Amino acid sequence: MTQRVALVTGGSRGIGAAIAAKLAEDGFDIAVTYASNATAATQVVTRVQALGRRAVAIQADGATTEGNVTAITRTVAALGRLDVLVCNAGMYPYGPIGEMSVEQIDRTLHLNVRAVMVETMEAVKHMGAGGRLIYIGSAFGQRAPFPGISLYSATKAALGGFARGVARDLGRQGITANVVEPGPIDTDLNPADGAGAAAIRSVTATDSYGKVSDIAEMVSFLASPRSGYITGASLAVDGGLTA
Ligand code: NDP
Repeated sequence: MTQRVALVTGGSRGIGAAIAAKLAEDGFDIAVTYASNATAATQVVTRVQALGRRAVAIQADGATTEGNVTAITRTVAALGRLDVLVCNAGMYPYGPIGEMSVEQIDRTLHLNVRAVMVETMEAVKHMGAGGRLIYIGSAFGQRAPFPGISLYSATKAALGGFARGVARDLGRQGITANVVEPGPIDTDLNPADGAGAAAIRSVTATDSYGKVSDIAEMVSFLASPRSGYITGASLAVDGGLTA
């Protein structure tokens, strides 16, 4: 089987759904995982199939080891191989650290960081030269421009360190690992008309929210052969939030 395959975790909505559609346009067959929203995941599958590509939706809780392993093994079982892994599923706990619970800390670490490690560990067993590991971090991994984001910022900052190490592990096999660090992107997680939107927008250089397509375009480039000399990098797509 020569048809290239991409897996997008959290691909049922928001940034992940846009990445799935863009990679299908680029010619990939697509697997997406989702937590609970089967209807949204099915819509993504239908959209990908309308582009003439194969697609599968996999229910898999990214906060669990079983969910991480299932995502990889079911992708390979359904589509035959794995060339691109996009670790996108994530959560955004908001509040001062003194008001967080240990359960919140653990779940955020599991979904935002540990999942990326376990999924990478499983995925590289199936990848060859040209393989791509793409992690969706955050501009808040580089800066914490206001209170309430310490836990989230820490988890997203961890991805840069992980990608640098993985780049060293796999560079000689022709596999790259990079982080895309979005600024505020208009999704259910961070609606451009939400309560905190004005404050978030004000810390960008452009005084604006980005679109899901802004992130999908960068992922499309990183997934392509055109990006083969980029590895271990953290790439901002953030309206200048980190400028
Ligand atoms: P959304 O909340 O809009 O979408 C989240 C997606 O992740 C959904 O497909 C959801 O599935 C899935 N998901 C959530 N929890 C789990 C889980 N436990 N296991 C598996 N899948 C899960 O988020 P965004 O599109 O806004 O964010 C995507 C990524 O981008 C996240 O990592 C986020 O931190 C990052 N990011 C977002 C920014 C923004 O401003 N929007 C800015 C910077 C980074 P389901 O449909 O089943 O709920």
